[in-house]
Amino acid sequence: MNWLFEPFPVWPLRSRLPEYPVVVEHDDTGPWTVRTDSRALLAYRGRVPPFPPARRDAASFFVPYLRALPSGGQLVGYQRLLCWLGPPRRPELCPDCASSGRECDACGGYGMLTFPRPGRIAGLAIDRNHLGRVMCGLEAIEVSVLGTTLLKAEMLFVESAHWRVVAMPTNVPSSDLLDVFDAIS
Ligand SMILES: [Zn+2]
Repeated sequence: MNWLFEPFPVWPLRSRLPEYPVVVEHDDTGPWTVRTDSRALLAYRGRVPPFPPARRDAASFFVPYLRALPSGGQLVGYQRLLCWLGPPRRPELCPDCASSGRECDACGGYGMLTFPRPGRIAGLAIDRNHLGRVMCGLEAIEVSVLGTTLLKAEMLFVESAHWRVVAMPTNVPSSDLLDVFDAIS
């Protein structure tokens, strides 16, 4: 199932952004239907029913992520990218605290176990499992992959003709050991 349609909660959202998809108009790139969990963002071109227009504060948050991308992205086969990401595994309710909100060593108080799978792509360390979950159900032959700075932060953009995924880098203790995506081989 396309992540756009997954029932909430996909991930606890620590912001005032809507947890459901919303339609955002961008002056240059047109309407998009957008969902975020604050770690990654999926933007689907066009207005996807039944999702509502974004409220003004949410729309102004999303607009920078929807601008036309700078050139320099690397064109890669989508299936190659999905293979590298690996099979997506859903977050699971933490068995130790059952998401009760109390302090918990198993999940760091998050309430969910998330199974991170770090990797390096376009110069950025990202969680392959999470990126794979956000791209689950999306179709493409080739995608453009680009690491670029947006709002003073490095972010990974993966773009097809019909959708765009933006992923925040993940913190990993030793990034030397990461599995690196090799677009050439
Ligand atoms: Zn827990």
